[in-house]
Amino acid sequence: MYNKKKVYPAINPISSQKHTLKKVFWIVSLLLLGFSCGLKEKNIRIAVARFSHETCTFCPKPTTIEDWEYSGPPSRELFTSNRGYIGGFKTICEEYGGIELVGIISPRGARGGSSGSWITEEAFDKYSNLIADDLRKAGHLDGVYLSLHGAMAVTGVPRPEAELVRRVRNAVGDIPIMVALDLHANEDHELSDVADAVFIIKRYPHYDTTLIGEHAARVMIKTIRGQYKPTMATRKPGVITPSVFQGTGVSPAMDIMERARRWKCRNNDVYVSVAFGFAYADVPDVGATVMVVTNNNQELADRIADDMSDYIWRKRKEFAGKRLPKTRKGVTLAIAAVKAGKSPVVIADHSDRTGGSTHILEELIKQGAKNFCIATLCDKKAIDEIESRAKAGDSITIDVGGYSDKYAGNPVRIEGKVEYLDKYERETMAVLLFGKNNRVILTPHLMQVTTPRIFRPLGINLDDLDIIVLKSRVHFRRGFHETGLAGAIFEVDAPGLGPADLTILPYKNIPKDIYPIYKKD
Ligand SMILES: [Zn+2]
Repeated sequence: MYNKKKVYPAINPISSQKHTLKKVFWIVSLLLLGFSCGLKEKNIRIAVARFSHETCTFCPKPTTIEDWEYSGPPSRELFTSNRGYIGGFKTICEEYGGIELVGIISPRGARGGSSGSWITEEAFDKYSNLIADDLRKAGHLDGVYLSLHGAMAVTGVPRPEAELVRRVRNAVGDIPIMVALDLHANEDHELSDVADAVFIIKRYPHYDTTLIGEHAARVMIKTIRGQYKPTMATRKPGVITPSVFQGTGVSPAMDIMERARRWKCRNNDVYVSVAFGFAYADVPDVGATVMVVTNNNQELADRIADDMSDYIWRKRKEFAGKRLPKTRKGVTLAIAAVKAGKSPVVIADHSDRTGGSTHILEELIKQGAKNFCIATLCDKKAIDEIESRAKAGDSITIDVGGYSDKYAGNPVRIEGKVEYLDKYERETMAVLLFGKNNRVILTPHLMQVTTPRIFRPLGINLDDLDIIVLKSRVHFRRGFHETGLAGAIFEVDAPGLGPADLTILPYKNIPKDIYPIYKKD
């Protein structure tokens, strides 16, 4: 329908003025008719839905419908930004023109993000069926674009994203279904068997979500126009890595993504994706995944996927076998770096996945550190208590943290002053000032601080800080490393649900030959 030739009116040989006017009338009419038919023909309708979660199955609290609807009911308002997986997709569709994007009712982000444990089957059924039913009611569709994180873990559903796409397929039939994923996705061939194409971001911190949305849109449009036939190959190299080692600014994570980009540069219309996977999920498709999309070339897709998978396997020891300093050593190193003039020094408390761990706070106090800030410590109970008996400026003695999970350490007694007690981004937060100009920022849920912009609104002057403790693995590099702000960075392996040493986690459902859990070499 898109190659239809335009119809031009024949030239009339009679040349009186009357005839000329008549001629003009017919030409204009025909052009208008042709234009309106053309518009109708070119109107492509693509449905867009979102269902994203990174589930930490070792974390204590299941993710329920209440968590999913904490910030509002499911909504069709998906096109509010030009950035991200959906914003990038939208931008390209607008550039092409003649494309109608149909927002499908989708759940928002779940409370607590990836500190949430197993999603209940009830919640998964509710939202995947809501999406499928809304697609059934959406009228004629030419394609479906799904923005999924890819690391959902659902009680009773081993591969939730593949199951969601199956339900979507049942609803829409044989039209292209394309999926965009985070690089922490845990997937395997079950997803690529049922989806037409899968695209995964390549950078951690995740700078390229908009870009991957744009890639997906181009392939979607070309596929609908019959100019592209997505053909996929999927491989599981059998390697699992902790998030803290996956930053793509360092080798070998950087080299793996560079190799994927090289393959893409050498082959027109090829999309090479690698998910490093999310290790803190006890699921059968855990670990790295390679997914290659070509234009109707299975042999090329297989060849690239094999090469990428072999490469990741060859790099497994460098990638998964590193060791990090424990709490005492890490804190000692940070204090020494301050003495060497490297302020501000960042400690990444990477293993704390619930946000309330006090190991590093306790150790900083013990070693006499000053000018430090714990950004952040998750403790809703402490915030409620402060609200009930104090206001900003008051002195207070209160126990904080140490209960968000079984590795979270002991509550730490703070004798100090309430420096801030107010809303920050819809939630009430508190800042306590204590000891030698030290601070702890209390948040009601896990809050991963990735840039220093949080400090000023809370009344904290960045220049006052020698040590900043972040509950983050790699995302903090966005605002503290790649900006050149931190004088030194220490990733510290305190006890926690997200350890760098994965061999200590009580996995039950993962493949029995995965490196470094079962295969040691
Ligand atoms: Zn991620």
